[in-house]
Order: sequence, then structure tokens, then C-alpha cells
Amino acid sequence: MNATAAVAAAVVPAAGRGERLGPGAPKALRELGGVPLLVHAVRALARSRAVGLVVVAAPADGVAEVVGLLDSHGLDGKDVRVVAGGATRQESVRLGLAAIPAEVEIVLVHDAARPLVPVEVVDAVAAAVRAGAEAVVPAVPLADTVKRVEPNPGAPEPVLDTPDRATLRAVQTPQGFRRATLAEVHAKALTEEAGGGLPPVTDDAGLVERFGGRVVVVPGHEEAFKVTRPLDLVLAEAVLARRRATDAY
Ligand code: C5P
Repeated sequence: MNATAAVAAAVVPAAGRGERLGPGAPKALRELGGVPLLVHAVRALARSRAVGLVVVAAPADGVAEVVGLLDSHGLDGKDVRVVAGGATRQESVRLGLAAIPAEVEIVLVHDAARPLVPVEVVDAVAAAVRAGAEAVVPAVPLADTVKRVEPNPGAPEPVLDTPDRATLRAVQTPQGFRRATLAEVHAKALTEEAGGGLPPVTDDAGLVERFGGRVVVVPGHEEAFKVTRPLDLVLAEAVLARRRATDAY
């Protein structure tokens, strides 16, 4: 492995509209403490010495705007590139991956919607891939009990069963991969889609699992939560204020 190969590249899918957050700008461009979520997320990755390049998949009609935003915020001298994202998260990741130089062997995928992931999580995921894992996800235990139901929106939904909470984890990003593994499962998924195959998965590790690969979990962090609903923005503002008060960043 040469020096370039040992440094990871990160793909940031940021092309979603984020409708659950309410009407307005695409989610990645919503502000947290006066700075867009996407800029926080890119900074969080750039802070890691394990990451040498960040590729952002922007909304297709927002590439120039995203380039301008990233240019106007200091990003620790990291190489940051912007490509047009796709209609699904999976497609956005595939397009970002295609923009990474061939010699890069470790790829992280990080949601723009997780602006506050601590650098320790980024480092731990990259280190686990460097140590030999083909797919790594950071995750945390669940506080709530989870029930599987027969979905029936608008009416009481019958419960099917209750998985043992001790065996469940809530999965975060960045997820880390051997580049060859990630490229292979995305290519297979594309072939399946063309044949009218299975629906898109909600994370990249899910694709590795679908095609029989081995995924391992490392500890995530409560501050790596995803900003999905309005209340998440309130929590994120509070975390940011606490960090600023304690000079953590
Ligand atoms: O919708 P959800 O919160 O699961 O989206 C996760 C991430 O995937 C977000 O960062 C979002 O911007 C990104 N995404 C994307 N392209 C899409 C849909 C979602 O890059 N077409």
C-alpha cells in the first residue's frame, strides 16, 4: 500500500431534500449556528488525519452554490470536490465514488445530515478498515424497546414481535469500506435496479450485507445523530453551544 492508498477519501451524499425537516432549502444547506449542515459535516471529516479528500454529492441544480459555500468556509487545507448527486442516496454515493482517484483504497461515506460527528468516530472507522475489515459501521445501543409491526398508517398497527434490545444497534455514519468492496456492491445494485430488482437500501453497509459481505460495528457517539426532524436541529444547536462554551472545537 503506498502513501496515497493509506489515506481515506470520504463521500458525503448531500443531495436530499430533507422534507421531514419541513419546507425550505435542501437539508444539507440548512444552517446550524450560522453554518450550513454540510459545511459542519465536511469540517468534521477534514479534521481527521485519516481523510485526505472529501467528495460532496450536491443537489444536481445546486453544484455551483455548494462550491461557493465550501469556498467561503475554511476547510483545513483538505482537497474538497463537488459532484452532482442523484435521485436516491444510493445514486448520490455511486456518483461521488466515481470521482475518487483509482489509487485510493479506503472510502468513508458520511451523511451531510450528521454535522456533529466527533473526529474520534471518523478515526476509529478508518482505522478499522485499515486494520483489515471490508465494511465498518459506527453504532450505539438503543434506549427504546423496538417492535416490528405490520405497517398500517393511520390505524392501530398489529405488533409482530419484539427483538431482543441487547442485540440491536442504531447505526450512524461515517461508514468505512475497502474501496473495491464498495464499488463492487454499488455496481451490483445498479444491475439489479436495471432488472427491476430490490429497493434501494438505507445505508451502504446494507448493500455489502445484501451481497454476502461481512460488516463489523465499532462504537459510535451520541453526538453523531442525524438531523432529520425540527427537534433534531434544536438538539444540534445545544450541542454546538456546549462545545463552543467548553472550547471543545
Ligand atoms: O433522507 P435521509 O436523511 O436518509 O438522507 C441521508 C443522506 O443522504 C442526507 O445527507 C441526504 O442529503 C443524502 N441524499 C442524497 N441524495 C438523495 C437523497 C438523500 O445525497 N437523492
